[in-house]
Amino acid sequence: MRQVLFATTNENKLREIRQILADTDIEVISLKDAGINIEVNEDGTTFEVNAVKKAETIMKASGKLTLADDSGLEVDFLNKEPGIYSARYCGVNTSYRIKNRNILERLTDVPDEERSARFVCAIAAAYPDGHTVTVQATMEGRIGYEEKGTNGFGYDPIFYLPEYGCYSAELPPEKKNEISHRGKALRLIKEKLII
Ligand code: IMP
Repeated sequence: MRQVLFATTNENKLREIRQILADTDIEVISLKDAGINIEVNEDGTTFEVNAVKKAETIMKASGKLTLADDSGLEVDFLNKEPGIYSARYCGVNTSYRIKNRNILERLTDVPDEERSARFVCAIAAAYPDGHTVTVQATMEGRIGYEEKGTNGFGYDPIFYLPEYGCYSAELPPEKKNEISHRGKALRLIKEKLII
């Protein structure tokens, strides 16, 4: 088995990547498993820059092939806000109920065709030999008019998927993993890891 360190403490993300890599010879270990406790300041200007910074910092500390991701929501009408600031939008300790209502309020009276939005996920793989590869994927949709659904997390309750006729928080978890920015990016990075 080859070991890959995934630079996260988020159990959901770990479960998802382990499922996606289950049919490979790759074993995914977490920061906790590797005994690493480093906070990487996500101060880049893009998702990709942040993912690369995190992956390279942790690779240097661990000596292992390291994956890191960065993701968020871009709302076109808000000039792609909250973007890389998605977790910090309205304050890092502010509930998603408040963050979501704030976005809905800022889009009051904005018509469907101007409510386009997407979730973005960038993943970087930093190799111990010094080279790094990146992938990026999106899930396209639009901001709805209310909060709906109890699955998912974060901005899922206000993210409407016209193709599916429902909000992201209404999707069963397996369906979301199949079509989400993160699921797609994980499958793209898998292709790079297995060659
Ligand atoms: P991070 O990549 O874990 O730093 O996530 C950044 C932030 O983007 C999260 O805290 C959420 O606010 C938002 N986000 C990323 N992916 C999703 C998703 O699939 N659903 C809802 N919110 C998301």
